[in-house]
Formats: sequence, C-alpha cells, structure tokens
Amino acid sequence: MSVVAPTRPLPYGRQNITEADIAAVTAALQADYLTQGPTVAEFEKQFAAYIGAKYAVAVSNGTAALHLCALALNVQPGQRVITTPLTFSASANCVRYCGGEVQFADIDPATGLIDLVKVRALLEAHPKGYFVGLIPVDFAGLAVDLEKARQLANEFGLWIIEDSCHSPGGFFVDSQGREQRCGNGNFADLAIFSFHPVKHIATGEGGMITTNSEALFHHLLRLRTHGITRDPADLIREPDGGWYMEMQELGYNYRLPDFNCALGLSQLARADEGLARRRQLAAQYDAAFAHMPGLTVLAPGQPGHAYHLYVIQVANRLELYNFLKTKQIFSQVHYIPVHRMPYYEGLGWREGDFPLAENYYAHCLSIPMFPTLTDEEQAYVVACIREFLSVEG
Ligand SMILES: *Cc1c(COP(=O)(O)O)cnc(C)c1O
Repeated sequence: MSVVAPTRPLPYGRQNITEADIAAVTAALQADYLTQGPTVAEFEKQFAAYIGAKYAVAVSNGTAALHLCALALNVQPGQRVITTPLTFSASANCVRYCGGEVQFADIDPATGLIDLVKVRALLEAHPKGYFVGLIPVDFAGLAVDLEKARQLANEFGLWIIEDSCHSPGGFFVDSQGREQRCGNGNFADLAIFSFHPVKHIATGEGGMITTNSEALFHHLLRLRTHGITRDPADLIREPDGGWYMEMQELGYNYRLPDFNCALGLSQLARADEGLARRRQLAAQYDAAFAHMPGLTVLAPGQPGHAYHLYVIQVANRLELYNFLKTKQIFSQVHYIPVHRMPYYEGLGWREGDFPLAENYYAHCLSIPMFPTLTDEEQAYVVACIREFLSVEG
C-alpha cells in the first residue's frame, strides 16, 4: 500500500467541531441567559442519561469537579486518600486542596490501572480508618473494575471518586455479566468528567460530576455556587423578602456557562459516533501492531475501552517521539508519574517508590487517536512507526 503524508499535522488528540456545534453555540449566544440558564440543566439531564447515572452537576472544568467532590465528601486536613501515580496531577491535587494526604498505589502494568491487590495490601497494613477514600482513574479509557473497588471500600470504610475523564461511554463487565458504564454511580460515590478539547466531549473548558446520591447532588449544587442556596426547603432563617438567599458554607464559583453547555449538548449527540470511530481506529492499530517486533500495545482488544488514548510502549521512546515529530506526528507522554512531580517530591515521594508506573513512563507514547483521524492518516502513522522500528531494530 502506498502511504501519502497527510496535509495537516497529527496531534495525539483533538476536538471535532461541526457546523451543528457552531449553530448551537450561536443560538446560545442569542438566548436570554449566557450563564445560570436552562441549557445547563438540559446538559446535565442528557449527560446523566448518557452515562446512566441519576444526577449530574456541570462545572467549569474537570479539576473543579474533583475539588467539589473532595469537599462534598468532607476531606479534612491530614486525612489520607489513595490514588494512582499514573494520572494527571489533578486526580491527586483535589485531596491537597482540602489539606489531605495523598497515598499512591502502583499500577498493574498490563492495564495501566491502579492495582487493587496493592490497594488491599496498603489497607490491610494499616488500622481501619487510616485511609478515608479511593480515587481510581479509568486510565486511557479502560474502566477500573469498580465492583471490586467497592468491595474494598465497603470492607475498609472508604468513599470512591471515579476519575472518568478518559472514559465517557466506557464500561467494565461486572460479576453478573452486566456492562457497567463509567460514571454510572452504581459503585462509586461520585464520578467526574472533563470537557477539555482533547477529551471525548469538548466544551472549551468544562467538567461534570455524576452521582446516584441525592444528598451529594444537592450539596454539590450549593458548593458550585458559593455555598449559596435560595431553596425554601433548605433555608436556616426566615426570609425577609423575595431577594433572600443564604450562604451556608464556603463554596466557589465553579459554574459552566450556558453556551459551553450548548456546545456540550451538541457534542453529546455525537458521542456514540465518536466512540465507535475511536474503537475502530484502535482495532486497526491493534491489527497493524500485532506482528511488529519491538513494540507493545497497552491492553489491546479490551471490551469497553473508550480509547481516550492509544498507548504503545517501545524501548527507544525518546528517539521515536523525536522521529515522529520530524514527520509532523505529535505524539505525547501520559503521564510523568504524579509522585515524580517536584511538588509531590517536596512532600516526600521519591524515584523508585512506584517502579511499575515509572517503568511504564519510561517507555510509553500516546499516538494519534481522535475521531476525525482518517484511515489514510492512520496508515501514515503506522508506516512511520514501522520505518522507525526497522531502522532502530
Ligand atoms: C483532563 C483530566 C483531568 C482534569 O480535567 P480539566 O478539565 O483539564 O481540569 C483530571 N483527570 C484526568 C485523568 C484528566 O485526564
């Protein structure tokens, strides 16, 4: 097959904005409410239905979503929370925002996900109550087995925040053979999503929290708007007029404007289409790489994988990254382990603490994976990688 170089640079991920999206945002800009209007609730309703959760709360970004979750679960200074070192720093930072301590548990190198066997070992090595929560991450789009995580959480009295930023539409199969969609709230107390342009659904900046808990839902709504409520049922004092509202606790302004939600709604309508294309591209990469010596695919052919990232591992990662750059292919590394960040090293973590995540980091590369990547562009990516491996051996 002759492979033609594409006419555009190929990043590892990018948004897909259509005429319908532009029309939706234009209409939203002409509506009565730019923010705090009806499009927010509509986006929340439709997103919750898509994910299979009872409630959804739209927020200004995924990091704000994590922060509000930690607040709603009442993370206190000194409380200890377990997460994976193989994630974006925000998954851990939310604990720090509340003064809590982050404990990492190493990954399962076959999946890149937090190893629940190691989590259990950690929990068993300490008295009950030593850890208060678990933040598993559906890394790259592969779902954590939350049924197993829930068993651990029940046994040791933990709450769970599922970081589903990589996995809208992804699922794992539970012990009854049922597909459990990421963020559906059947096992985790809260789940969070991001609508940053590299994620499945883009709103510019944006995020969402999903839950099946009515109490947490109401608390999150209040925390999103300064800790203020106007709901007569929730008021502490007697209103002295129609203007009356109460700030009952320290909240934030983490709202998502209506025109962002309009974009989100329009994108959500195509979410399954985008997911199907990601899975098709993944199957094509899997087939192309199956017999390519010197290259390993992370968790190939997993059912329910949402493929935010398509990750390969090679011996000469830096050389491949640089080679692809000369070919206008802009691969990326996900992630530098969180415990190796200078901030976390300042808290006492060191190189060697989580060797499997560190070894993963030494070899991983996320190559182009986004719905508008064409078959021709993908063939070009594969041909460039093949060329590199045949030269480098
Ligand atoms: C993107 C991302 C976040 C943060 O989302 P923002 O919207 O960028 O704040 C958190 N966790 C993971 C795993 C992410 O990929």
